[in-house]
Amino acid sequence: MSHKKVSSKKKPSKVRSVEPSVAASSYYTDSLGFLAMDSNVPGLSNIILQKLNMKSYAEYRSAVEGNSLTTNFGIRTYAEMFQKMEDTYKFCVQCKKLPSRLPDPRAMRRCKRCQNIYYCSSECQRENWPIHKKFCRKLKVAAIDRLVEWLIFTGDIPFPTSPWTTSITNIKTWEDWFAMQESLEVKLDAIMAGRYMGILWANAGKPKPENSELRESVKRLTTDFFTRPMTIGFALNTFRVDPYGGPVTIHVVGASHIETLNIRATDYDELAKMFPGNQGLEVVMIGPEVVDGPVMRPPLTAYGPRGRVYVSGYKSLYHDFWETVVENERAARPDLVVGFHPGFHASQGLTEGWLPTLLLLRDYNIPVLFTMYSEHELKYSLQILAELDTRVLGSGQFPFCSQKLEQAQSDPNKHPVSSNAYYLFFRGAVWLDVETSMVELDED
Ligand SMILES: [Zn+2]
Ligand SMILES: [Zn+2]
Repeated sequence: MSHKKVSSKKKPSKVRSVEPSVAASSYYTDSLGFLAMDSNVPGLSNIILQKLNMKSYAEYRSAVEGNSLTTNFGIRTYAEMFQKMEDTYKFCVQCKKLPSRLPDPRAMRRCKRCQNIYYCSSECQRENWPIHKKFCRKLKVAAIDRLVEWLIFTGDIPFPTSPWTTSITNIKTWEDWFAMQESLEVKLDAIMAGRYMGILWANAGKPKPENSELRESVKRLTTDFFTRPMTIGFALNTFRVDPYGGPVTIHVVGASHIETLNIRATDYDELAKMFPGNQGLEVVMIGPEVVDGPVMRPPLTAYGPRGRVYVSGYKSLYHDFWETVVENERAARPDLVVGFHPGFHASQGLTEGWLPTLLLLRDYNIPVLFTMYSEHELKYSLQILAELDTRVLGSGQFPFCSQKLEQAQSDPNKHPVSSNAYYLFFRGAVWLDVETSMVELDED
């Protein structure tokens, strides 16, 4: 279709009805979903960098890779680092008391079954058991995962992968993906026997789980690492975007510190392996919270190298990026736009954040896929997209979601969730089909 201005079809009056009534608490509505997620479900980056007083991932890596965890970071030993990470979970799940409010802070007791949650007293533990027993088993898994996640930061996870031997059309689940990996058991063994796995359990302050449990955790964290390139691959395949016919540009919209703080230039390489012989794939991270870092280089003006993934970034709201960069041909138009749990449901001033972006994506007829972390978020997002007359093409449980379980930190006695358990995809507006058929009729 022609590239008309985004506001030509719908007036703001149509849109107001979808704004939630809660007062706005932040300008960056497209980051609210991430923030909401972040405060409930801490990622390791949040814990390590904020609780450990580190300013950047580079600092963190130098601490991990260097010969010591120096006093610059206030951490002298690995044991202390894991201790500080665990401290963020230390409060009485029943009465919410913090250790500092106990006569003896060390009297805080941990549930021995799950090694995850804490109680100030045996009374609180007893009172809490009828609820906690429903979640204890899953919280045990979540507690293992939050420690093993450290192995992503040390580089042990993921194991090295090869160009795919099966078309993405035939890889429908993570089981299919693992089955395709050559020498999978050998690669998992190498991680299990790795130096950092040893350091982890020597310093975690918790008993080392059974090998079988640890192995499953390593696999879940592997899916957590690969879930973003898999999301893009899944979306390319869904929309029949052909990476063999020409170079492909993917925009990650609403990218925040979660996508960009820890990013390495190689993090999306799986995408190139998914399409061996591709003509070049560029992944551009765009969002107001994009963090400066090694891969935050400007989007390409010409196409990138064939057979490879080129990651770039741009710190801006998406519609501003479009107007100043895309419109001026300083970056390619996207063949696909992807958003990782954008959090429309938590967006309180939709008009200021996501709305111009959604209208732009709709009116330029761009293929779009979003992931969501709950059914609630999916339903609300579908409602918003329906109000905006976008043409939603499908939605459901996302087959390549991260298998890592994340617990709600403030209230752990809930089912831990995957951060991208659901997805939806849309393209264009509902009236596009009608218009097209009318044109055809006129011509007849
Ligand atoms: Zn208590
Ligand atoms: Zn428990």
